Amino acid sequence: MLKGQHHVGAVRSLDVQPQSLSALFQGTARRPCRVDIHFASDLAGARHVSPNCSCPVGGCCEHAARVLLAAIDSGEHTQEVSPELLTWLP
Ligand SMILES: [Zn+2]
Repeated sequence: MLKGQHHVGAVRSLDVQPQSLSALFQGTARRPCRVDIHFASDLAGARHVSPNCSCPVGGCCEHAARVLLAAIDSGEHTQEVSPELLTWLP
């Protein structure tokens, strides 16, 4: 939990929806990363996330993790946006 919290950067324009998240992540690069994360449940009811990011990593990156953490901190849609969604983090 709270992995990456010590890193430099800021989450902006966070938009939390029941099935998705979007935000800009301003890190050390001049241009912010655009992060879009979609949630889904499989047939067994397990939750999954599909992170996409405009950085070269393309998704399962620090930016997506930081956006998820910011969404959890925001307290919106806490049933959908839960810490268990962070299990893909390295
Ligand atoms: Zn990224």
